[in-house]
Amino acid sequence: MDFQWDAEQQSFRDTVRAFLAANLPADWEAQAHGPGSESQSAFSKKFCGALAEAGLLVPHWPQRWGGRDADAWTAFILAEEMWAAGEPRGGQYMNVNWIGPVLMRFGSEAQQARYIPPIARGETLWCQGFSEPEAGSDLASLRTRAEKDGGFYRISGQKIWTSYAGHADTCFLLARTAPGKTGMSVFLVPMDTPGITVRQIPSVIGEGDIHEVFFDDVRVPESALLGAEGQAWEIARAALSLERVGIPRFALASRMLRRAVERLRREGRYGHGAVEQSARAHAACEAARLYSYQIVDQRRHGTPTGPEASAARYATVMCERLVGEFVVEHLPEALSGGDPLLLAHHQRAIVAGIASGAAEIQLNLIATELLQLPREPR
Ligand SMILES: Cc1cc2nc3c(=O)[nH]c(=O)nc-3n(C[C@H](O)[C@H](O)[C@H](O)COP(=O)(O)OP(=O)(O)OC[C@H]3O[C@@H](n4cnc5c(N)ncnc54)[C@H](O)[C@@H]3O)c2cc1C
Repeated sequence: MDFQWDAEQQSFRDTVRAFLAANLPADWEAQAHGPGSESQSAFSKKFCGALAEAGLLVPHWPQRWGGRDADAWTAFILAEEMWAAGEPRGGQYMNVNWIGPVLMRFGSEAQQARYIPPIARGETLWCQGFSEPEAGSDLASLRTRAEKDGGFYRISGQKIWTSYAGHADTCFLLARTAPGKTGMSVFLVPMDTPGITVRQIPSVIGEGDIHEVFFDDVRVPESALLGAEGQAWEIARAALSLERVGIPRFALASRMLRRAVERLRREGRYGHGAVEQSARAHAACEAARLYSYQIVDQRRHGTPTGPEASAARYATVMCERLVGEFVVEHLPEALSGGDPLLLAHHQRAIVAGIASGAAEIQLNLIATELLQLPREPR
């Protein structure tokens, strides 16, 4: 494959870089920025507001919703530059990658009018209420119930590992309206609705990142239902297929690897073992990049995304892990206050194969759908 960026794509990348240089605080890389922290949540609104004004928040969206119908490559170049810079959009990357597009596809006119414009202006935060204590990889076993009560639903249950919930305005919530896989529905629930309690889970991955969210007889109007009752599986699949390659974490991993290698070189510590290990990590970053580009190309041509998306996601997990291991092995002092951005990458690398779905599930999909391996007889 003879792959090259064309002049327009290169110029778009330069524009994004210039925007970052002008809009990130001088001490950005020296700050500890857990994506769900209070300071990052507040900063993301300021930063995304400025991105929106510059036409760089949702260029890939339709004009009707504030975009300019830019193609999948433009969206991906933008995402690569954001991740390489340590993702200053914070949790708002979800809004522009999949929440907005899913609302455009499945939302009622009233839901679209209420929720899409604030996303396009960069002024709102969402959280994704899918996982539960007994339902992670196996989402179909979720127990949070939504029971019809006149023109309302009453929601009760518990979510867990919910990123950004502490500062989110709205929850994209999966709840059960009937038994079985076809009995799951999506609700758009304002987080200030009475009966919702958010409890932060302390963790090594940064302040304010993950939470438990309790729903205790939470009453929402029936207009909070997205699509039809029982349509959650279709909606969640659409969301996850957009999410799976919408996060080019390899761009940050690759940059962090270069940064660690440069420092080791400067300090005369880049010996044989480090060269070999960094070469392996670099190859993994490149593999993740190229696998991801394959999916972007499919999107660009309107080809439905297949199981290759699982390969792209798994390759990204591998590269984050290898870069993380390299830093632990050769530059451990960077993780104890020496380099906040390397630490931020490391914190993400720890959970790389869990957040956004377990890596082993991707391996299952690669085995059965991509490699067409036979399933083990039960
Ligand atoms: C930092 C972070 C942020 C997160 N943010 C969110 C969020 O915002 N919203 C949200 O809804 N969820 C979120 N999650 C939850 C995440 O999606 C789940 O943790 C993930 O789907 C795995 O589910 P689980 O934790 O229940 O583990 P389980 O599904 O119980 O898996 C446990 C282990 O068993 C393995 N396993 C399970 N099933 C299979 C199988 N069929 N084949 C092979 N191996 C299997 C898994 O790979 C894993 O190693 C987040 C998680 C983390 C760590």
